[in-house]
Amino acid sequence: MPGPKDYYKTLEIDEKADAKAIKSAYRRMARKYHPDVGGKGQEERFKAINEAYQVLSDPSKRAEYDRLRHGYADRASKSWGPGFHRVEREPSASAGTEDWANLFEDLFSGTGNFATGSSAAGSSRSSSVPENEVSISLEQVAEGSLVAVTVEELETCPQCHGSGLDCSRCGGLGRVNVPKKFEVTIPAGIEDGTVLRVGDHARIRVKVRDDPRFLRQGKDLRARLRVTVPVAARGGEVAIKPLVGERMAITVPPHTNAGKVLRLRGLGLPQRGKRTRGDLLLEVELMFPEPFSEADDRLYDELLKEHSDKGGELYAPR
Ligand SMILES: [Zn+2]
Repeated sequence: MPGPKDYYKTLEIDEKADAKAIKSAYRRMARKYHPDVGGKGQEERFKAINEAYQVLSDPSKRAEYDRLRHGYADRASKSWGPGFHRVEREPSASAGTEDWANLFEDLFSGTGNFATGSSAAGSSRSSSVPENEVSISLEQVAEGSLVAVTVEELETCPQCHGSGLDCSRCGGLGRVNVPKKFEVTIPAGIEDGTVLRVGDHARIRVKVRDDPRFLRQGKDLRARLRVTVPVAARGGEVAIKPLVGERMAITVPPHTNAGKVLRLRGLGLPQRGKRTRGDLLLEVELMFPEPFSEADDRLYDELLKEHSDKGGELYAPR
């Protein structure tokens, strides 16, 4: 995890440098390290110079950068050790839990106005970061998948080679947005709303579509299972089609009442980074086999004579 980039050092200027000093330092450095002059070996350096200039030449970005820079120094001296890792799921907009490198990307990506704590009123961080959405099915959650996405990536401007000097193509930024295609691996077990990084600094939010048959509850799946009254009464096998895989027979035990939940272990969803899978929970609903025949009616008449329990209790809906 890189620490804060020192843009002042990159441009070889003082923290108190004014706009004019920044500009002239940039011109001097850009000329010195331009790939046409300095050669291939200086490309990284040249990029860094452009990046530094993009931020420091914009008063609001510079102010934000200074604030973050000092904030980072404070935090680094307290609790932020080298073992800090970013979390994949977008945390709430708070600089205290954010990854410094990401803040830099936001600053540098030119989207501006990203929220860090109280500084940007009313805007959330996620709204300012270029973010794409990809929607996947529950089956894709179960099995993992590869999806193609196109995101914009900042690239060195082909016209000015990044110097930005008198360039109409990039408007002096030295970089231009280029659409790029990526194949993104969606890991099995991914949660709805997870944000994955793509390419240099694009993000995609993974949306898991609702499924007509299954409701996801963490690693478990829930469904209602219709069972005929005779099978529920006497027990028997019914064929079900799980989320993935072939149809399979499951056993309904004798005297299974409506509302009973059958738990099928391991037929739920995988968990990221774990070998175990969740369970499939089937809530039994009773149905009469249709159509009713005269023979059915005679048998139910027998049952009616056998039982005094006619029901009639009321329960609030679930
Ligand atoms: Zn250009």
